[in-house]
Amino acid sequence: GTKCKIAVLGSPAVGKSALVVRFLTKRFIWEYDPTLEFTYPCSCQVDDEPVAMEILDTAGQVESNQTNFEGTVRWADAFILVFSVTDRHTFKQISILKNQIDEIKRSKNVSCVIIGNKIDLEHQRQVGTAEAERMAADCATAYFETSACDGSPEIDEAFHEVYREVKRR
Ligand code: GDP
Ligand code: MG
Repeated sequence: GTKCKIAVLGSPAVGKSALVVRFLTKRFIWEYDPTLEFTYPCSCQVDDEPVAMEILDTAGQVESNQTNFEGTVRWADAFILVFSVTDRHTFKQISILKNQIDEIKRSKNVSCVIIGNKIDLEHQRQVGTAEAERMAADCATAYFETSACDGSPEIDEAFHEVYREVKRR
């Protein structure tokens, strides 16, 4: 099968680890060590094609270690950028992140999807779907809304779509 290295990036506490674990195990676990950075191997099927993914669940490199961040971006074939729909600050970080990735990859054509997570917390929502879709369109990426706790099918769809992006480019 084809190989694909995917880095999951975004502000702390948006649900990156919860989404990765949900995709890998179809389960939700409430608490993860927020400092843990780990690469998970994963064999899956995308459009009936076997794919060997390596999924890097990152921790906190946006704010801190710039060298590590560059290394992560260089390593990855594709990116899943995650924010929480309940936290506008994390949404604003997405276009900043996308620009940093484009710069390091020296390309505007990076394989990338954006996830707005925690849609189960509808009463705490700070970022609307239409607004997020416009931002994603500006970044020329697909946009998915998910709940890692409810386990929306969009979680699988986001991981599959970012692989399709890699194939197209
Ligand atoms: P990370 O720092 O981005 O890896 O975030 P985590 O996966 O550790 O999640 C941070 C917190 O948000 C934890 O308390 C999770 O239980 C919670 N969380 C993650 N995803 C969701 C979600 O979709 N809905 C809700 N309500 N909570 C979530
Ligand atoms: Mg985490």
